[in-house]
Amino acid sequence: MKIAVVGTGYVGLVTGTCFAETGNTVTCVDIDEKKVAKLRNGEVPIYEPGLETLFERNVKQGRLHFTTNLKEGIEGAKVIFLALPTPPGEDGSADLKYVLKVADDLGELLEEYAVVVDKSTVPVGTAEKVRAKIAVKAKVDFDVVSNPEFLREGVAVEDFMKPDRVVIGTQSEKAQEIMEKLYAPLVRQGNPIIFMDEASAELTKYAANSFLATKITFMNEIANLCEKLGADVDMVRKGIGTDTRIGKRFLFAGIGYGGSCFPKDVQALAKSSSEAKYDFKILNAVMDINQSQKTRLIEKAKQHFNGDLKGKTFAMWGLSFKPYTDDIREAPALYNIDALLAEGAKIKAYDPEGMKNVREIVGDKIEFCVDEYHAAEQADAIFIMTEWPIFRTPDFAKLSSIVNGKVIFDGRNLYDPVAMAELEYSYYSIGRKDING
Ligand code: NAD
Repeated sequence: MKIAVVGTGYVGLVTGTCFAETGNTVTCVDIDEKKVAKLRNGEVPIYEPGLETLFERNVKQGRLHFTTNLKEGIEGAKVIFLALPTPPGEDGSADLKYVLKVADDLGELLEEYAVVVDKSTVPVGTAEKVRAKIAVKAKVDFDVVSNPEFLREGVAVEDFMKPDRVVIGTQSEKAQEIMEKLYAPLVRQGNPIIFMDEASAELTKYAANSFLATKITFMNEIANLCEKLGADVDMVRKGIGTDTRIGKRFLFAGIGYGGSCFPKDVQALAKSSSEAKYDFKILNAVMDINQSQKTRLIEKAKQHFNGDLKGKTFAMWGLSFKPYTDDIREAPALYNIDALLAEGAKIKAYDPEGMKNVREIVGDKIEFCVDEYHAAEQADAIFIMTEWPIFRTPDFAKLSSIVNGKVIFDGRNLYDPVAMAELEYSYYSIGRKDING
């Protein structure tokens, strides 16, 4: 099948590459000329494990193309995916300007029947808006389908190639048949393609992300309570996670969720609710709690250093919002950088993939280091922001010999507090006993 993907970011590039891998001919369209030039030059502009191999193979075999020209990109395409940004607008609602602009262009450019697929995360009613926008200028028949994407950055290729489920909102039998055929190679193990109406498909994505954000936030609340009551959140996690009704995943306490999806999706769902005159109380609490959770370690650091962080040097291990990605959107690290700089501290940071993106935002306000030890040299304390595996088992003897102070503020609960006490570290984590050595 010939397909087009409009918007070649994290979702668009993975979608395009994976559909090329299943034998389709794909053209990815993006307005970012630099990005398209890079892609045409054989460079993958984002870090996503496994993507490069598939990208190279499919480009080489002539199934994957890139262009900045929408007309050229959609020529002959039976399915046109919209994988465009839907960032929060000023009032927190999803800003649909990118999606509706392309819909407007498509109306003029469509020359034969196509299924236009909303893959962006969009509020209920968007498929209808996209349909209306295209219809203004369209000369041919078309369908608009809602097909929210559930891939996780860091394991995006695996998630795309083996989805737990595919959700498709459409009332058109023709579109349903085409989508079923396109997705068939990805659901061979029997995972379902769930067809539903468009509104339910649109809401499913927000419900999934908001539920997961709530689960994380609930555990962060339990963690904060553990600290007050002298319990250990890791024990509580194991205790409840073994209950199959609860499940083991998304139960890790830490310094809050970040990334390009959870914060904006929770916010957008809260906004949709208030527009529908429904007071979704949990969501408002989730947003408040997550905001304060991001800088929990700053409170602990202030306590440790008697309220004065001025002139202190801190190593920051991890910048990306989670491991295995270079995405730093809404990363807790950014909030901690701001807070520490505001206190007059100096920061030496290291992240395996996220440094380039952070440098674009903070410039030379912090020092970027070649590895975690370089960052820790002469540091008064280490802040752990992201649970990259490289930070899990440092050489503590080496570390102890290069730091200025044996103090760790761990936002991801990577180490055992008892072992840290034995190593004579002051060790602060989330929801567990703080060790003030
Ligand atoms: P992104 O910012 O990485 O990519 C979007 C791309 O669209 C950019 O390359 C941008 O240049 C391009 N673009 C903007 N306007 C354009 C236009 N008029 N024509 C062509 N290209 C244009 O965004 P993303 O992370 O891939 O997210 C896209 C959508 O998917 C969002 O709605 C997001 O909420 C949703 N989503 C994201 C993830 C994720 O993990 N990143 C997962 C599921 C769903």
